[in-house]
Amino acid sequence: MKMLIRKITAPSLALSLVFALCVISFGSHAAPALRQRRTVTLLLINGRVFTADANNSVAEAVAIDGARIVAVGSSREIQLRFSGARIVDLRGRLVTPGFNDAHIHFAGGGLALMRVDLTEARSLEEAKQRVAARARELTPGTWIRGRGWDHTLWGGAWPTRKDLDEVAPNHPVLLQRVDGHVSWANSLALQKAGITRDAKAPEGGEILRDASGEPTGILKETAAGLVERVVPPTTRAEQQEAIIRALAEAKRYGITSIQDNSGYETTKLYRELMREGKLTVRVAEWQNFDDSVEELKRQRTEFASFKDDPLRLRLTALKGYVDGTLGSRTAAMLAPFSDDSTNSGIPRRSPEELTRMIIERAQAGLQIALHAIGDRANRMALDGFEAALKQHPVRIDLSNVTDRSQVGVSSPRHRIEHAQVVAPSDFARFRTLGVIASMQPAHAISDKRWAEDRLGEYRVLGAYAWHAMQSHGVRVPFGTDWPVEPINPYLGLYAAVTRQSTEGDPAGGWWPQERLSIADAIRCYTAESAYASFEEKEKGHIAAGMLADLVVHSRDLLTIKAEEILQTEAAITIFNGQVIHERDATPSRAARRLRPSMNKREPPAQL
Ligand SMILES: [Zn+2]
Repeated sequence: MKMLIRKITAPSLALSLVFALCVISFGSHAAPALRQRRTVTLLLINGRVFTADANNSVAEAVAIDGARIVAVGSSREIQLRFSGARIVDLRGRLVTPGFNDAHIHFAGGGLALMRVDLTEARSLEEAKQRVAARARELTPGTWIRGRGWDHTLWGGAWPTRKDLDEVAPNHPVLLQRVDGHVSWANSLALQKAGITRDAKAPEGGEILRDASGEPTGILKETAAGLVERVVPPTTRAEQQEAIIRALAEAKRYGITSIQDNSGYETTKLYRELMREGKLTVRVAEWQNFDDSVEELKRQRTEFASFKDDPLRLRLTALKGYVDGTLGSRTAAMLAPFSDDSTNSGIPRRSPEELTRMIIERAQAGLQIALHAIGDRANRMALDGFEAALKQHPVRIDLSNVTDRSQVGVSSPRHRIEHAQVVAPSDFARFRTLGVIASMQPAHAISDKRWAEDRLGEYRVLGAYAWHAMQSHGVRVPFGTDWPVEPINPYLGLYAAVTRQSTEGDPAGGWWPQERLSIADAIRCYTAESAYASFEEKEKGHIAAGMLADLVVHSRDLLTIKAEEILQTEAAITIFNGQVIHERDATPSRAARRLRPSMNKREPPAQL
């Protein structure tokens, strides 16, 4: 039947459609044409399906049965071959593979959501109202944590414990300023920490006091630690709550896979949620590079004993750190910072020690993902990977480097996380060694304000250089580093395509030669990310046999103006073949109108 339909001509196709419709109206007896249509769980029709395959091909319709895609093609072809228990008429909307965030701190992001967010508070009153709202939600005695306040937006005077006592007298409250260097506590929190008028600030800290010598509630630098040490550690229930909140965010943004920094122990929480049917992302969890090989193996053995579906929950890379950050000038640089001539940053360990650890873990067959920001840190990681490769040679196919899908096919797929500042001569080494450059485009538009001061005009050319990476044949998966940056993947796509702030600065983009096409940026967030966790044969592009993780976008990313990417939302998120999120679950009038080719006796659920 399949083959027949492909071969028949357009007029005879029209005839068979008429025949099929007649059969529908005469009931279910003697319906040879329909009987041969396979019933599947979900059909998406009349869309623009960006497959993210090697040719970036675009189709119209997708047939899904259970957790897998069974066919991709034109709407007509798909409807002739399949009937859907549910049919979604996309009305021309764009479908892509679900987003795969290749670098995220999922549990930490969820915890941040549970804290009071004061970043948008424009007045002291607004900040107090947010704390009041949280106090109403939480039982008295529970700590209220929050962050993001900025008193310079409220006239410049420090707020006090009394402001918080007014709205939350029965909850200890501790709120971090936007820069993380000052905390604001209420009276109950000060009392629990033993901060009285006699208390002394620790070295490197300050307790602000009023005219009578009483602490005001403002604690600078290390003084905040006096309160932090009496805050109870996060409970298991809170962590679970955090992950549930993070899952709600992920589905809202069309994120169906994460590569996660939460750590091995968190897999136990993910497993519980999976068994309850609540885990709506695929998780590739990371272990700690600093753990001993014995401990890493013990975790792997324990993990394997649970016999999870590896496509839902798996252990992939070991996450380690080579250096710090550019913002705090702790990134390890080959030469001093341009705005601090005595400082070249701080590697976490010596090159020899790093290489020894890489070799030991690579020999155990483990994929390694190293945080490296500075050009020196990136070189140290590459040197370590090269040494490991020399000890255990793996054949890397470089015969056809123009075909990115072939690069590093047989490599251990070690990764450098961020790969933020790279010496130009090192780009090619990523490709030669099969090392993945796992990048977060939103970092570039957050950091560009000061990155050039730190780096100078020469080194900045190798900074956040995702296009240079790609043109050297390097695999570049995209992620967010949430909660460092927002979880929103549309912000990442926008940053990758424009290299402009959300306000559009600078015109034309910051080092615009590093901009990507939107199609390439989507591929980085889907197909490239799947490669980074060894799952490119299961997900990351839309084709028959692949997992049915898809997102329907509210706007056509492929054709809209770049600034409109920021207004785009996930209209529908499909995970494992199930619709898990619908932005507007109320069908519009147009959507309720049935198309003539659909079975009128069983109106399909539509959007
Ligand atoms: Zn991170």
